[in-house]
Amino acid sequence: MRDLAEMHTIHVEVTNACHLRCANCTRHVGHHKKPFFMDLETVERAIDSLEGFPGRVGLMGGEPFMHPQIKEIIEIFAKKTERRKRHIWTAGFKWEENKDLIYEHFDEDYITYNDHTAPGKHQPLLVAIDDVVEDKELADELINNCWVQEQWSASITPKGGFFCEVAASLDYLLDGPGGVPIEKGWWKQSLDAFKNQMATSCRKCSAPIPLPHESDGFGGRTGPTKDTISKSNYEILKERSLKVQKGNYKILNTKFTNEDIIKNSFSWTPSRYRDFISHSSEDSSKHRLLSPETKIKAR
Ligand code: SF4
Repeated sequence: MRDLAEMHTIHVEVTNACHLRCANCTRHVGHHKKPFFMDLETVERAIDSLEGFPGRVGLMGGEPFMHPQIKEIIEIFAKKTERRKRHIWTAGFKWEENKDLIYEHFDEDYITYNDHTAPGKHQPLLVAIDDVVEDKELADELINNCWVQEQWSASITPKGGFFCEVAASLDYLLDGPGGVPIEKGWWKQSLDAFKNQMATSCRKCSAPIPLPHESDGFGGRTGPTKDTISKSNYEILKERSLKVQKGNYKILNTKFTNEDIIKNSFSWTPSRYRDFISHSSEDSSKHRLLSPETKIKAR
């Protein structure tokens, strides 16, 4: 795992609401009965807390444009960050309506656009490693080498600062103990400061296990999407998850040995969730199989 100061981005997650319903979403969209919407004071405090961070500040969701105050949020980003220090992720919600505002404040290479109209992949994230890897040393080793923490980002949600973006989402979904206080320089702390988060989130996560991707990448446009989960997570989620209560899940009971992990690792490329890079609707148009206007059929 990396120190947070080495990351290319720390996200400010302004909402975990999204109009799409991908299988195995990194923000567990579809499970939440009540998504969060970060208030403007917290957005300001979050950006201020990243003063001196050498990487970029991510404007991230869910889908940021589901936030009713997204215009004010973008103004705060514009006021508090240098143009080359900010990056926005969008699933293209109301793109035509919003694109002028986006281009006004973000450089094109720092706009990540994924409207989920072309095939994509999502690694299952709700198989608790402790349920399926009985060798605790092996589980620790896999967690210590987790590709998400090594390649993606830390993040800030209304519950605090987190060492990993998936851990932040798991903390909200599983009603975890929350992140570290959003204070200046929280991200400079060593990984020791985040041990509590690792103990609660990483043990409930399957990002580091080489599992097959299971998503058509169409965000629920073709019908309900199922998340793969393990027994102990099912026991927690059956009370609190809309997706589980609707039956949109499948249980994975398999146990994995060291040999299985090695064998399954060979063709495993979890961070390559699609075959192209897209900064706009036009970029995606060359690859898409469905119109972005296609109705989301997921329940
Ligand atoms: S919470 Fe999951 S994705 Fe994040 S570091 Fe832990 S194992 Fe990896």
